[in-house]
Amino acid sequence: MTAKNLLASVAHSSDDTEFYTPMPSGYRPGKTRYVGVFGTVMSGLGKGIFASSLAKVLKDKGLTVAPIKLEGYLNLDSGTLNPFRHGEVFVLDDGMECDMDLGTYERMLDQNMSRKNFSTSGQIFTAVLEKERRGGYLGRDVQMIPHVTGEVKRKLRELAVQSDADVVFIEIGGTVGDVENAYFIEALRQLAFEEGPQSACWVALTYVLEPPSLGEQKSKAAQLGIKQLTQAGIQPHIIACRAKHEVTQKAREKIAMYSSVPYKRVFSMHDCESVYVIPEMIRQEGLDQQVVGILGLEDRLHPEQEVKAKNEWDGYLTRLRAARDDVVIGVAGKYTSVRDSYASVIKALEHAGTQVGVGVNIEWLEATEISEDKVAETMRGVHGLIVPGGFGSRGIEGKIAAISHARKRGVPFLGLCLGFQLAVIEFARNVGGLEKAGSTEFDEDCENAVIDILPEQKEIEGLGGNMRLGGQDVVLSRDTLAARLFNNAAETRLRFRHRYEVDPRYIDSLEAAGLIFSGRAPDYPIMQILELPTDKHPYFVATQAHSELTSRPLRPDPLFLGLVQAAQTFKRASNQQGAAAIG
Ligand code: GLN
Repeated sequence: MTAKNLLASVAHSSDDTEFYTPMPSGYRPGKTRYVGVFGTVMSGLGKGIFASSLAKVLKDKGLTVAPIKLEGYLNLDSGTLNPFRHGEVFVLDDGMECDMDLGTYERMLDQNMSRKNFSTSGQIFTAVLEKERRGGYLGRDVQMIPHVTGEVKRKLRELAVQSDADVVFIEIGGTVGDVENAYFIEALRQLAFEEGPQSACWVALTYVLEPPSLGEQKSKAAQLGIKQLTQAGIQPHIIACRAKHEVTQKAREKIAMYSSVPYKRVFSMHDCESVYVIPEMIRQEGLDQQVVGILGLEDRLHPEQEVKAKNEWDGYLTRLRAARDDVVIGVAGKYTSVRDSYASVIKALEHAGTQVGVGVNIEWLEATEISEDKVAETMRGVHGLIVPGGFGSRGIEGKIAAISHARKRGVPFLGLCLGFQLAVIEFARNVGGLEKAGSTEFDEDCENAVIDILPEQKEIEGLGGNMRLGGQDVVLSRDTLAARLFNNAAETRLRFRHRYEVDPRYIDSLEAAGLIFSGRAPDYPIMQILELPTDKHPYFVATQAHSELTSRPLRPDPLFLGLVQAAQTFKRASNQQGAAAIG
């Protein structure tokens, strides 16, 4: 039986068969090919970065790509996950709260993701159990194989139908050998079997150790990790070796021999200066061509498109490497010891810095340690301040002190989500004459709750008492700094994740005191961007949104861009002042 015939018989089989494979309508066998990236040896090797870089290189060649991240955990989404443990929660335009890797895909591919690009075991099992309750399995006992694996395959094929992709990229969280991921791997094995030859390309991402005491690379852990993958029924086509330094020929030969993968398909993916260099590395090593060959996609490529895309990306890398004259941006946060909790802020600063031509050094300011009397010392040497998003009351007063200092001393400032709310509170207290201004998030009985939960507004938007999530339109007021930053557009779209907002009853008095709300929701009085007049402060801007989430390498977020430009000017001015004082 040929692969297509097999797939056809599977597709038309009844539910009572070991070939159970639910097929989404409109699925075209052979149209979409699948690339799977598996982690071996250990997690945290940048599987998402590698997978998204490879996807980007294929997209640059003119192929349509659609990534999907499969997470083993039982949560339905990442909304309740602690950024300390899992890194930041990335919010998609459709409101899905997901793993930070989706941010990597959006940035690398310059393509919006949706809930179809993210699945957890929680989602898979829920779908299976709901179907079971509806009597969907016709009296059969519901099993991991074929029913749960069937649901995984259905999700992948559904993404193929919906995106009409040439290649679906599948990234499985964690590493081979994790109990919670085993059924994902089994589902992929089945998928390749059903789809037939040239339908799937399996990439094992592994790690080559280099113990300092030995001073040489050791490949045994890599070999054993790959062996676990083959034991699960996946024979990799390609092996990508992560390592500190370029992987030696000897180590690659050993890995090739041990895992039956040709030497030319064992690649060194060693550490480099920026994740945005990895697509270049993939091209230089010829890894992309191997994938195209394995999947038989040669006749779908558009070489002219590739030249253009490559030139654009090369331009970005040239600017990144040429960036000089560093500025220091202070980030006053709560999880400053865990960089992943602010991954998108870090990236957005890199994009903006690259565009401006400056290197951005981040100084992490632990909010709980900032106090009013020491804030000037804490902020010495900082050319710009970011107060990022956050929840709960810890560190709030420290962040407010930092904002106050920035406002009074003309230090460029960007507030994001919670940072926006705190900028409103700081202004209300110190300029608006509302000494007791605060948010009901930190103090339920707050006397002047300029920031509050407003269920009646959420009800109009159909959100009930829940978080306002996802992409929302922002109307920009004419002749404001915000409008100028967005190239005088009348509207823009940003990503949101908040429960609290400015109480509209305070808008008039805050504006009368000199605060400008320059970005608002189109139909409701939800304040989305604020600023101070530029004759009062060079750059004091905040947004209720997470504008860091929509920053892309070639299209940096305008608010970050404005901050970095202002920080550069601030640095030059303070250097001159310093020089004048010495002179
Ligand atoms: N805690 C605030 C709210 O829920 C801000 C949220 C955030 O910064 N993401 O509105």
